[in-house]
Amino acid sequence: MKNSVFSLFIWVALSIWALFTTVPSATAQQTTGYTSQVNQVFGEKLTFSLTGMPSQAVQQVQLVLRLPSESILVVEMVPFTENNKRFSAKVDMEISRLELLPFSVVEYYWQIQYVAGEKENTPPTSYHYADDRFTWQTVERQQVRVHWYAGDLAYAEQVAQLSEQVIHEGKVEYGLDEIPVIEMYLYARQGDLLNGWADAPAWVAGHASPAQNITRLAIPPGSGASLIMGELVPHELTHWLVYQVPPVGYRDIPVWLNEGLAVLAQKQVSTQLLGTLQTAAEQNQLLSFEDLCTHLPQDEHLVQLAYAQSYSFVRYLAETYGREKLLNLLAAYKNGVHCTAGVQKIYQKDFTTLQADWLGSLVPQNFILATLTTPYFWLALLLLLLPPLVWVGARHK
Ligand SMILES: [Zn+2]
Repeated sequence: MKNSVFSLFIWVALSIWALFTTVPSATAQQTTGYTSQVNQVFGEKLTFSLTGMPSQAVQQVQLVLRLPSESILVVEMVPFTENNKRFSAKVDMEISRLELLPFSVVEYYWQIQYVAGEKENTPPTSYHYADDRFTWQTVERQQVRVHWYAGDLAYAEQVAQLSEQVIHEGKVEYGLDEIPVIEMYLYARQGDLLNGWADAPAWVAGHASPAQNITRLAIPPGSGASLIMGELVPHELTHWLVYQVPPVGYRDIPVWLNEGLAVLAQKQVSTQLLGTLQTAAEQNQLLSFEDLCTHLPQDEHLVQLAYAQSYSFVRYLAETYGREKLLNLLAAYKNGVHCTAGVQKIYQKDFTTLQADWLGSLVPQNFILATLTTPYFWLALLLLLLPPLVWVGARHK
């Protein structure tokens, strides 16, 4: 997810992260004479409040939030009142401003500065921003907890079983020993997923927050569920598994590699996606892999092409040079090698040459596809096969 710049906030450096320690989630926290509380209106706001009876006059109150987005701290000045020594501070934080995704955890504390000059911090506290629009049920397995609110138990168990299989295979593939349990939230409608997520692109059907071990998937229960599961579950879990490869994190993994590995892991790849690639290749409108090192395009159609290209290129690398080299490439990126330099290092070819090789590998397929779809091919095949067919038919008379 992209990181926005909020002009009203003060961004504070990573070093202040050390001020936080994770403590159990709670909506209300009794501190040194203060009571801190959070109330939520899902999709709209979190209201943070602090009340107490301080023994001295308060000059200034700040709320310090650590957001789940990496490296982001928010410090907000909070208005307060003091009546007969009863102190009260309250602030609304809009969900869209915080770019909070459902089930994320926000860590926060209050900093109170007194008129006399002293400062006091409340203990760091966690708030779990749950999607409370639905009544969630849970199926638990060794590596996954599947949460769902629509459909039957068999639907959730099918997702859990597939997840276990993907994670087990992924652990072997990526050489992972101990990995955390992942929380998977199944939305019955894509709209339910998107409504809780400010600025979500309309095409999103699944999303992983690997640092938080959370994934959210839109899988409508019913006859089409198996097909959607086969695409979304391996795709999003692969993003999470790739993140777990030491050193943990995405660091500078190129988008084309991350998405390519995820699509490659899917049980099936839609013909529409492959068609997008074929059309773009024929019309010489492929995307620049250099751009795909860092980001996906904005346009929905081009996003599909980006997925298709990434998948095809990564598949080409795996089939031509083997999975081991592909994992070496991932390791190189994890250790900070630049996008184009990583390719050069592992494949001993520059990025442009490798792309040309890949493109060359597409041409015969295009030719075969084009040949198969022309009526003249079938007519020629029929004429070739007709005499033997007639002859075989004659023998059995
Ligand atoms: Zn993806």
